Amino acid sequence: VSIEDRLYTVKYRDAGESHLGVENPDVCADCTTNECTSVCPAAVWTVDPDGDGVPSIAYENCLECGTCRYGCPYDNVEWSYPKTGGGVVFKQG
Ligand code: SF4
Repeated sequence: VSIEDRLYTVKYRDAGESHLGVENPDVCADCTTNECTSVCPAAVWTVDPDGDGVPSIAYENCLECGTCRYGCPYDNVEWSYPKTGGGVVFKQG
């Protein structure tokens, strides 16, 4: 089973607002490596190669693993858990 197939089975509750962001967009604009796009297992972060360098964030697909917090070499990720009742739903067992 591929990672993509497994991700397709994950359930989410929409919190209605993003729990992810960037501290300083200017830092993203100067970043050339875009680690956020490669470390996230759920492809939440994307950067338009023709854009301003600030990532788009598909927060609805976040697995709440926390990897992006540590993957950004500039410590530029704003991270919190989704509002109560929102976010990923992990099956037990
Ligand atoms: Fe991706 Fe994990 Fe960060 Fe969510 S917490 S955006 S799944 S790296």
